[in-house]
Order: sequence, then C-alpha cells, then structure tokens
Amino acid sequence: DTFVDFREVFLAYDNSSECAVEDITLQTQPGEFIAIVGPSGCGKSTFMKLATGLKAPTRGTIHIGGEPVTGPLKFVGMAFQAPTLLPWRTTLDNVLLPLEIVEPYRNTFRKDRPKHVERALALLKTVGLDGYADKYPWELSGGMQQRASICRALIHEPKMLLLDEPFGALDAFTREELWCVLRDLWTERRFNVILVTHDLREAAFLADTIYVMSKRPGRIVARRANPLPRPRD
Ligand code: ADP
Ligand code: ADP
Repeated sequence: DTFVDFREVFLAYDNSSECAVEDITLQTQPGEFIAIVGPSGCGKSTFMKLATGLKAPTRGTIHIGGEPVTGPLKFVGMAFQAPTLLPWRTTLDNVLLPLEIVEPYRNTFRKDRPKHVERALALLKTVGLDGYADKYPWELSGGMQQRASICRALIHEPKMLLLDEPFGALDAFTREELWCVLRDLWTERRFNVILVTHDLREAAFLADTIYVMSKRPGRIVARRANPLPRPRD
C-alpha cells in the first residue's frame, strides 16, 4: 500500500538543458512522515512542485493516493519558510481561508461557519494560540504566525501536508517547540507529511524516513529509516 509514488521522475525546467531533479523513485506508506534533506539548490522545492501537481515531470510517473497526478492537488496543506498570512485578516480568518476556497467546504462555508470557527479555535488552542484568534498577523511574533500558518495548512483536513523549511526562520527555542506541536498533531491524525529541510536534527526528530538529495543533478542518494523511536510505536 503506497501513498506517494514517484517512479523514475525527471524534471528539466523549460529554460534549462540540465535536470533539476533526476531519476527520483520514492514510495511512502499511508500516514508516513518523510523528510527530504539536502543543500540549497539541490531540487527540494522542485520535488514539492511535482508532489503537488504544480509541475508535470519531463519523464516518469507520479501517483498520489493511488491516482495519477494531472494538475494541482486540492487535498494538500502547505506551509513555507515565511509565514504567508494575509495581513488584512485576523488569525481566525486566515486559518479559515482554505475552507472558503476548497471543495467541498466552499459551497456551504457561510452556513457551516460556526462549526468551522469552533474547529479553528480548537486547532489554535492545540498550537498554543489560545486567545489570539482576533489578532492580526502584525500583532503576532514570527513563531506565532508560523503556528497559525500550520493551523491554516491543516484546517481542511488535508490528506497530505507539505512543509518547505517551515521552521527555518525561527529561533532555536521556538523551532523545537513547534517540532513537538507538529509531532503531536501528526501522532493524533496521521496525515501524510513531506518535510523539506536542510536541518538533519529536525529530520531525525520528526520523520519516519529520511531521504538525502545530492546537489546537481538533484538525485536521491540515500534513504534511511529513522533509528529513533517513533511516537506511533
Ligand atoms: P532547493 O529547493 O533544494 O533549493 P530548487 O528545487 O529550488 O532547489 O532548485 C533546483 C535547481 O533547479 C536549481 O539549480 C535551481 O536554480 C533550478 N530551478 C529552480 N526553479 C527553477 C525555474 N523556475 N527555472 C529554472 N531553473 C529552476
Ligand atoms: P527556493 O529554494 O525556495 O525555491 P529560491 O530562492 O531558490 O527559493 O527560488 C525562488 C524562486 O525562483 C522559486 O520559485 C524558483 O522556482 C525560482 N528559481 C530558482 N532558481 C531559478 C532559476 N535558475 N531560473 C528561474 N527561476 C528560478
């Protein structure tokens, strides 16, 4: 049983003769948390674009959840290095945003709003943002904005969470605190996670399996099961 299924995937950007990622073959089990580590420019973001259907491979096949990927996927949540909250919306309304956009929530968003607000507040509480729902992004610290971004990525209960250096800009203390928050959420809900990071400690703390990418061309050169005890065990 596999969730993410890359087979011999290559991608060369239009304006480039060289492949950004080369010969990527990778399968994950449903509910697996994987990390991809490698130096800057090795192709991690390119891998993410392929896994979300934002880019089509030049060669090879990609299936997610048993379906061939033919365009941007709707059942994913994403968080990036910089929190990308909309400044004119409160924390709560930022977290609710995916429900206003994504099927099937979109059509009944107004009617179901009270129910969604309740869930958003519960999620905010889980990440330690109790009492900040009505604040605007500029009233929150960087770490708090990042917590809110993670809530937004999860509110529509995506099957897959994609994290591109989500803790990179945080101080060491906040970063490790958020690792625990994420690990607890994942232990409880078991969504599929792809985490891209250049922090090996982060990968070792969070992921079931760690893939190492080499620089130019971006290839997976190692796959290691995490030797540390996993929360699911
Ligand atoms: P990482 O996320 O690991 O830093 P990227 O996936 O962004 O790496 O980049 C991998 C390689 O592909 C780099 O050599 C980068 O310059 C190149 N690249 C990334 N995006 C584009 C693009 N849109 N067009 C052309 N080349 C790109
Ligand atoms: P990241 O590693 O997060 O992709 P970068 O600073 O490498 O950040 O790239 C920022 C943006 O520029 C990305 O969206 C990427 O697609 C694009 N990009 C990166 N390298 C190139 C390149 N050589 N040619 C064209 N676009 C690129």
